Amino acid sequence: MSYLTFEDAVRFHGHIGPYLAIGYRAGTLARNVLKPRDIYDMYAEIHVPLKRPYTCIADGVQCSTSCTLGKLNIKLIDSNELSISFFCKSSNRKLVLRVKEFIIDEISRIGNLEKAAKYIMSLSPDELFDIANYLAST
Ligand SMILES: [Zn+2]
Repeated sequence: MSYLTFEDAVRFHGHIGPYLAIGYRAGTLARNVLKPRDIYDMYAEIHVPLKRPYTCIADGVQCSTSCTLGKLNIKLIDSNELSISFFCKSSNRKLVLRVKEFIIDEISRIGNLEKAAKYIMSLSPDELFDIANYLAST
C-alpha cells in the first residue's frame, strides 16, 4: 500500500492547517501501530464538533490511511471532544487517540495556520495524543 505525503494531503485538502496535520499524524500513527493487512482492514471514526476547522482532521486521516469516504471505512461523529478511533479487523485491536487539551490552546495561541501545522508535525505522538491501544473485544 502506498500513502500520500503531508504535502500531498495539503494539495488534496486545499490549504495547510493544524487540524489537517492532526488527522495526518493520527492516521500515520494508526497505520504504524495497527499495521492493517489491506485497504479494507482498518476503520476510522473521527469524533469532533461537526464544523471546520475540526472536521479538517478527516481529510488528514483519509490521506494518511486507506480509510476513505468512498470505501465507507471512515465516519465523522458529532462530539464535544477531539478524538480519532481506529479499529483493525484482522488483529481485533482498537487505537484511540485523544488530542491533548493544551494542543488546542497552542494552535489558537500560534494563530498562523502554516506555523501551527508545522508545530503539530514536529511533536511526538505522545506529546500530541493521549493514546489507548487495546483488544477490541475487551
Ligand atoms: Zn482545513
